[in-house]
Amino acid sequence: MYAGEPSATVVTLPPRGAGSPPVQPRGGGHVTARQRRSGQQKAGPAKGTPTATTTETSLTAAPAPSSHVLVLNATYEPIHVCGIKRAAVLLLKEKAEVIENGEGELHAEHTAMARPAIIRLRTYAPVPRRSRRRLTRRAVFARDDWTCQYCGDHRDLTVDHVIPRSKGGSSEWENIVACCSSCNRRKADRLPHQARMFPKNTPRPPHPSVFIQVACPRIPPSWDAWLGHAA
Ligand SMILES: [Zn+2]
Repeated sequence: MYAGEPSATVVTLPPRGAGSPPVQPRGGGHVTARQRRSGQQKAGPAKGTPTATTTETSLTAAPAPSSHVLVLNATYEPIHVCGIKRAAVLLLKEKAEVIENGEGELHAEHTAMARPAIIRLRTYAPVPRRSRRRLTRRAVFARDDWTCQYCGDHRDLTVDHVIPRSKGGSSEWENIVACCSSCNRRKADRLPHQARMFPKNTPRPPHPSVFIQVACPRIPPSWDAWLGHAA
């Protein structure tokens, strides 16, 4: 599940495993390239990301600028965003480590932790093949930089099937582009060479960072370096 969760102020968490060390955020700041290369992955069962099932501890999050947490794969590639609750669960279960903290803290009866802004999964999570990620209008617009692929306009956007559906065109990433309404009307039901209208960029399945932008329209500045790293 790759959609951001709604912002939560009260977070329910599973109990921390007996004997497991407290979560030790590594302070602010980015990990250096050397640290990245040295690889701090822990070998572990390659399971999918866990879900919160048990609820024993209740954390209350102070109001904070963003309820979204950027999730990096074990390889440091940004893969999606999640809500603060899910991030806290991943950290307490030691499925993830903190890369960067945001402002504020999460509080519970016996524990408090810095509010995470960026976390990294300790084991590699298989990323769905790009072509399989759900196609939405917003994701098409984000991939195409909110620009009509025929005239470059940014207003009144819709989506266009490059090969019209009536001519057998599919509704896949490779056949859909952002398009303004007037170009859409002008092209109508014609093939690109008939209309003499060709998309500026060859449509392709988008990079995962596009989905991060879609899930979290207001990207915190601290994420930029990581999203740039992905591009
Ligand atoms: Zn246009």
